[in-house]
Amino acid sequence: MTMTTRIIIWMIAGLILGSSINAFAPDNTLIQDYLVNGLFHVVGTIFINLLKMLVVPLVTFSLICGVCGIGDVNKLGRVGIKALALFLLSTALAITLAILVAVSVNPGKNFEFIQHTTNEFTAPEAPPLTQVIIDLVPDNPIAAFADGNMLQIIFFTILFAICLLMIGDRGRSLIDGAEKLNEVMMQIVTVVMALAPYGICALMAKTFALQGIGLILPMIGYFGVVMMVLICHATGTLMIMLRLLGKISPIQFLKKMRTAQIFAFSTSSSSATIPVTLRTVEKRLGVDNSTASFIVPFGATINMDGTAIMQGVATVFIANVYGIELGLTGYLTVIGMAVLASIGTAGVPGVGLIMLAMVFNQVGLPVEGIALIMGVDRLLDMMRTAVNVTGDGVVTLIVANSENNLSHDVFNDPNAGILETVHLPHGSIQN
Ligand code: ASP
Repeated sequence: MTMTTRIIIWMIAGLILGSSINAFAPDNTLIQDYLVNGLFHVVGTIFINLLKMLVVPLVTFSLICGVCGIGDVNKLGRVGIKALALFLLSTALAITLAILVAVSVNPGKNFEFIQHTTNEFTAPEAPPLTQVIIDLVPDNPIAAFADGNMLQIIFFTILFAICLLMIGDRGRSLIDGAEKLNEVMMQIVTVVMALAPYGICALMAKTFALQGIGLILPMIGYFGVVMMVLICHATGTLMIMLRLLGKISPIQFLKKMRTAQIFAFSTSSSSATIPVTLRTVEKRLGVDNSTASFIVPFGATINMDGTAIMQGVATVFIANVYGIELGLTGYLTVIGMAVLASIGTAGVPGVGLIMLAMVFNQVGLPVEGIALIMGVDRLLDMMRTAVNVTGDGVVTLIVANSENNLSHDVFNDPNAGILETVHLPHGSIQN
């Protein structure tokens, strides 16, 4: 049985277990204390921490190798600009599709919202665009690394690696060191992924024990439209982009991206999924390290197609519920805002709602309305994060292929980079 199959089986088991607890034992303190908030919580959180623990060192070493591997500042700039343009394009397409579908289906037309508003939502302060741009440059790199501020880490590491190239031969041993450290980090990813079935099972069981599918029913209109557009974007728009711009087979891509999608789904965080996405695009899909190490962490932070879809549908939904007419200019503002908001916010769970508050403020929709959709947001977060990560993969492949940095042999080999069983070392290294 392959690792992915095992992960899927454990994921479904967690889902069934969690939903059963939610349906049959929601008030059983023993189960809630020892299983849901005990075992599932501990195992799930340790698993997420294991993944998060890898992100900063993995991105750093892999980016140093990547930049030094490219060795050419012009090429680096070209790869960055191509990736940024594609990220913005795919996000804009995603939210446009979401608004078009939502306007035709019109979810929330006859919604009786008084019954369902049980939560309260207080809008966070949105940082001004100027601050977002200033924040790209860290005033203290150690603080940026400690906080895991991905854009600042990318900025500092690229500058560091370029200067490493500039000092020529004297930098060689550091580059060799980064290559070895990168290899070790990749090995840790493999070891952590071997634990995934249990971690993912615990995460699913906890989420579904607390959430329950019943929450969806009153919101089925909104939930259904978001889900439908997410599926259309992941299997339609993105695959058309892959085919037309990258001349790459969508079927093979989707098959190999599945593990990363499952990790994104169960962790609800594109940032925590970076180690798995990196491993997948490099080892399974054949993108070379120099392109992957640059685009994947960049994408996890600024590319959020799934989140944009949620925002598009939520805007139409709340406008309908409150009987507000947004008009063409309103919707165009929403598209522009959502694309910009995705750049300044990191890929962590629940950040989509914060971005939505910024969008609502801009077009004058009541921010309290977000309280309505909060109940089902946890489940939608899982799905949209899987779509966010799929978008990162698509853009990485298109750019890699355009730069001749994609190995078609690896891409076409169904077994390339497949998750192996982990063999722990016994005995010492012989010289
Ligand atoms: N959880 C999403 C991500 O990490 C962001 C969001 O939509 O809330 O990509």
